Order: sequence, then structure tokens, then C-alpha cells
Amino acid sequence: MINNTINKVLARCKGVFFDMDGVLYDSMGAHADAWSKAFEHFGIDFSPEKVYQNEGRTAHSTINLVYQQNEERMATESEIDQIYSKKSELIEAYPDAIPFIGAKVLMGELKDKGIDIWVVTGSMQDKYLEALLRDFEGLITAEKIISGRDVRHCKPHPEPYLTALHKSGLLADEVIVIENAPLGIQSAKAAGIYTVAINTGILEDCILMESGADLLFKDWKALME
Ligand code: CA
Repeated sequence: MINNTINKVLARCKGVFFDMDGVLYDSMGAHADAWSKAFEHFGIDFSPEKVYQNEGRTAHSTINLVYQQNEERMATESEIDQIYSKKSELIEAYPDAIPFIGAKVLMGELKDKGIDIWVVTGSMQDKYLEALLRDFEGLITAEKIISGRDVRHCKPHPEPYLTALHKSGLLADEVIVIENAPLGIQSAKAAGIYTVAINTGILEDCILMESGADLLFKDWKALME
């Protein structure tokens, strides 16, 4: 039954939308650590596990959420600036994120089959978006990246994936999304897209399935097999 569904999805697949952190890059460990330490610097608790649970939000949204949960108010612009600067400073100390080999291999195979490749990420930083074009040269082009700058609402809102559908001219049932995070999965499913979860992080598989994933792989190796 599951195989039938997958075969139908694959048969009409004209595009694959990839999330970036945790799907294309083995980068989430560093982000989780940096976010957690940045909040800790200001005396606020935000565990790495909570970072994974909220992965996909913009920095602005993440900081506001933590303030709402811990301080029962929104963060001020100054607090947002300070915490985000601290997080950015901390992340600089980590080595550059490494692309997952499986992601490059799969993209190469998709490209050969004429399948459209898009990236849908909440990230807004030039540094990461430029690295993406460099690391996936020949596979990803700038106009096929939907970043945090292209949308008003971040994941879990469907807008990022709806924007990718609109710009690509593809229908929801012609596309597959590959995501690693609960909010990203919710965003893709709210946009009506078949969503494959790849659990590259520290959350239990069941959290990704409960977020609505149609299929789950424990890592890139399992997905490629
Ligand atoms: Ca992600």
C-alpha cells in the first residue's frame, strides 16, 4: 500500500523542494548549540532539543517565541539584535557546515531526469545562501532558492512552500518535499505537498511522523538505498 502511494508520487514527480539546514547541510548541531549558548549568555534557558523542535523559524520568530515562553512578552528589537548577534558570533567559531554527500548525489540524479530542484529555507544570511550556490554548483541556482527574505510568514506557515509552488509553476501533487524538522514538515503538508522526512537530528522519529511526514528515513544513506 505504502509502495503504491510512493510509486504514484514518484511517477508524477516534476520537482523536489529541499529544506537547507539538516537536509542539505550537516549544520543543525552547530546551530542548536549556538542558539542554546546565545540564550544562556542572557540568562535564558533554550535547550538544543528545543532548537530542533523550532527549527525552520526565522531568527526573529525564534527569539520572540522564547521570550513569550520564558518572559510572557515579545522581545524588544534591542534584545533581538543582541541575542542574534551573539548567536551569529558563536556560530562563526564552528567549522563551515559540510553538505551531505547523499543530497548532492540525489540532486545529480534528479537533474539528469529533468526534475526541477528548489531550496526552501528560513535562512536569510548571505553567507549561507552564497555557500549553497558554491557547494551545490550546477545543481542549485539563485532564482530557485526561496529564503526567509521571500516570505512574510516563516515555517510552519505554508507560505514558503506555496511560494516555491507559485514560482516553479508546479502543482502540489507534482512535487516532493524533503524536510528534517517538525515545523518544516507542517509547512510542506499545509501546502498540500507529499513530504519525506529525513531524521538527521536528535528528535525521536515519532515527532517527525506526528508532524505529518508521509515517509521517514533515518538518514541520507537509508534514503538513497
Ligand atoms: Ca531544516
